[in-house]
Amino acid sequence: MENDRPTTLPGTRDILPDEMPRWHLVEARARELFDRYGFEEIRTPIFEATELFARGIGGDTDIVGKEMYTFTDQSGKSITLRPEATASVVRAYVEHHMYRAGGATKLYYIGPMFRHEKKQKGRWRQFFQIGAEVLGSDHPAIEAEVIEMLLDWLRPLGVECRLLVNSVGDGRCRPAYVELLRQAIKADLTQYCEDCRRRSDTNPLRVLDCKVESCQPLIDRLPRITDYLCAECAAHFREFRSYLDEGRIPYEVVPRLVRGLDYYVRTAFEIVSGELGSQNALAGGGRYDGLSEVLGGPPVAGFGFALGLDRLVMVLPAEVEAAATRRPDLFLACLGDAAFHRGMTIARELRRAGYTVLLPFGATSLRSQMRLANRLLAGHVVIIGDMELATARYQVKRMEDSSQRELSLPELLDYLKGQAA
Ligand code: AMP
Repeated sequence: MENDRPTTLPGTRDILPDEMPRWHLVEARARELFDRYGFEEIRTPIFEATELFARGIGGDTDIVGKEMYTFTDQSGKSITLRPEATASVVRAYVEHHMYRAGGATKLYYIGPMFRHEKKQKGRWRQFFQIGAEVLGSDHPAIEAEVIEMLLDWLRPLGVECRLLVNSVGDGRCRPAYVELLRQAIKADLTQYCEDCRRRSDTNPLRVLDCKVESCQPLIDRLPRITDYLCAECAAHFREFRSYLDEGRIPYEVVPRLVRGLDYYVRTAFEIVSGELGSQNALAGGGRYDGLSEVLGGPPVAGFGFALGLDRLVMVLPAEVEAAATRRPDLFLACLGDAAFHRGMTIARELRRAGYTVLLPFGATSLRSQMRLANRLLAGHVVIIGDMELATARYQVKRMEDSSQRELSLPELLDYLKGQAA
């Protein structure tokens, strides 16, 4: 309350209508693309038993230790607003016996998450994530496939981003590395920040995550996990990267990139964007083969990611933003003045029939007009050239599948009606 006028709480905000088209755009693109990869949407509750997150995320994390919105409800049960959704998705997978279907189960979610974080640019206390989880496959190819999907979504949106990858080993090779790390940190302990000094005991891997300036040169000298992987983990990591190479997906191996929980194994990755400033992570993910068992389920391999939608919307390039404000049904590509006049007449008729129609202002060649139509996400392009002027039959291209048909204006109206039905 401010002057007795209720306002949004710190770290929360209204997303106003003028921002909405960008959200709709990125979400629609994700749904369409994730579907092509065989992912199905799941919606889990926004609040769950506190126990789920305490077990599923881990007591030694900042999220569980400091950031959860936890309260006791009227029945005396401790409940928590979800700070992330992986634990919920795995809980649902186990609760509904989805593993019985066999094979890999591919699920995605979109929704708000809640963390009581320090206020900072790019950090909110209610923020939105879109995430995908593959349960039931430990194949390194699935990791490359999921990452490819993520980049296939981000790159056409014009988002500048880099892929960072690492392997965090597994229960066989990591403990020895963690011990080595602990000893190496202890050797210079007094030079580390307070959090790192504490983590050297509780969870030395998390020291690698530290963002404090004075710790950076120290961390750079620490042993690298990639030098201590067991043969199986090293082979898995090699295979994973070979799939990235085959898909021509550029990446950087960053041995400092870790997920600090015990059941995270092998592949970890992050997608960062230079346009985001200090909070530069757009998405993070990894393999969590032990999580199902931690939640009382059968042993099930898992791999997934979460991406921050607030941040993605923030870095959308201006032209995508402009395009997102409308999704025209038709774009009329006009070659020459006479064609443009005809285009004006056709546009009028189509709009009267209820369609959103755009003319090629600012583009002249067919090539540049098609590019513009693509950027504007037009459903169809009607091409009007000399031939079409003479015959009053137009080339109509459906952008979704590039199929093309030649139609008169009445036929076009009939065809569009058929498309909408
Ligand atoms: P995490 O679940 O912490 O691995 O985060 C995955 C992604 O969610 C991050 O890369 C961010 O893009 C986004 N994210 C996490 N925390 C916040 C926050 N407090 N505010 C906005 N976005 C966030």
